Parts: sequence; C-alpha cells; structure tokens
Amino acid sequence: MIRIHILGSAAGGGLPQWNCACANCVAARTGKIKPQTQSSIAISADSEEFQNWWLINASPDLGRQIESTPLLQPRHDPRRNTPIAGVLLTNADIDHALGLFLLRQREEPLVVYARDETRTAIEWLDDVLAPFCGIEWRKISSDFQRLNGNIGFRAIELPHSVAFQFLDEASGRLALVAPAVSELTREMSEASADSDVILFDGTFWSDGELGAVRAGARSAREMNHLPISGGSLDFLRQSPARRKIYTHVNNTNPILMPDSPEYAELEQAGIEVARDGLEIGL
Ligand SMILES: [Zn+2]
Ligand SMILES: [Zn+2]
Repeated sequence: MIRIHILGSAAGGGLPQWNCACANCVAARTGKIKPQTQSSIAISADSEEFQNWWLINASPDLGRQIESTPLLQPRHDPRRNTPIAGVLLTNADIDHALGLFLLRQREEPLVVYARDETRTAIEWLDDVLAPFCGIEWRKISSDFQRLNGNIGFRAIELPHSVAFQFLDEASGRLALVAPAVSELTREMSEASADSDVILFDGTFWSDGELGAVRAGARSAREMNHLPISGGSLDFLRQSPARRKIYTHVNNTNPILMPDSPEYAELEQAGIEVARDGLEIGL
C-alpha cells in the first residue's frame, strides 16, 4: 500500500498569509476556519514499514510540518537520523524549494529529483547547501522509475512545471500529484484517466481572484495556475478517479469556506479540498 500524507495544503503564503486581510485570512486568524501551511506532500510505500518518506515539494513551513507529523520525525537510534529519503520538485517556485534549506543538517547528501530547468533556477540554493549536506541531483523521466520500496514514479511534463504519477507496484494502483498545473495537456488527461487518486492544483477558483484583494495583481493563468472555475472543474468532475482532491489552495480561494456556494459545487462534483494532516491510502 502507498500512503500519501498532506503536510501542507495552502499555496505560497499559507493561510493566513502574513500581510493579507482577505475574508479567509481573517477567518483563519479568528478561528472560524483552520490555518493551513504551505504546499508539501509526503509519500511512502509499506514494504519498508513506511520508513522512507519522499516529499513532493519542500515548503518554508517544513520544520513545523515535521514537528506535527510523527511519521517524519527521527527514530531513537542513532540520535541523528530521518525517515525523509528525499524530495521531488514540481518546479523552482520559492514555496516549493525553500524547505530544502531547512534539511541542511542531514548526515548524507539530500536526494532531489527535478528537471534540468528547475535545477538551474535554484542553483543559488544548491550553492547555499554545498557546505552543509549538499544536494544529490537525480533526473526525472516520463517513464516509470523506482523510487524505493514498492513505489514507481514518473514525471508528466507541463509548460511551467511537472506533475508526478506514482505507481503502487503491488496493487497496480496509480496516484497523480499535480499541485501546479497551467494547462490541461493530453498527457495530463491520459494520466488522470487511469489514476485512482488525484491531487490537483486548486490555487484559484477564478482567473481574476487575486485582483479583488490586490490591485494590478496578475491573473491565475498569468501565474501559471489553471483556475478551478472554467478550468479544471469539469475535467476533474469527469475523471473516474476514486478520490479527487484540490490542494495548493490560495488563501483567497472561496472553497476554503465550507459554507460557500463554491465549496458546495465541489461537493456536488465529488471533489474534496485538502487539509493539513489529511492522509490518503492507495
Ligand atoms: Zn506553490
Ligand atoms: Zn488572504
């Protein structure tokens, strides 16, 4: 069995975001809805008793996420150790990569899977980590390769990022993890058609959402995020996956409010909204 653990379900900035007083951020500060940390997902397979966890993106909230997730904490012996085997990066966005820096005290080099342009874009981080544990870069491919245990994975190339599809080699089940999607490519459609679980980019409900809280803000599409409404909603509604979950949700997104019409629309479509700590078995 593969286990997927949502460490952080919010887009860059988190919920609440430090400089934001939108309705959701205010609701999170006053306890009406729960705060959420920045997007990161942990995945493991059971052949090694869930001893090896891989992170899909490493957010600046990683330290907090580890402390609230016993599975990711060091075992008793030896005194310095970690069950975190490495990181897979969807792209070089700061909210996906800054967590690498927080892992610098590792005893061994940090294994990071990424495409070449992501590696190039965070060369500065590579330099910062070099005097510490350093990074052992590994290439990703559109063909399945073994991560460890019973997990295979492959990358689905997108215009500004990659998505990852994970294969439970024991059961043949597939999970699609796509927290940053700018476009529904044919390869993405094909991957979603045979996936049992889909974690999808739920950054923005509408294309102009950010403009309502910040004058002159770029649109969702200009920020390389396909909005839910008029974008990914119909696609996910039609997908045969057993579980479909929006994650990487920006603090301005009305789906964070359980009494909103937008949330009701997702419920009707059989789509969930990720929360920190959500665990999904495959
Ligand atoms: Zn992000
Ligand atoms: Zn906000």
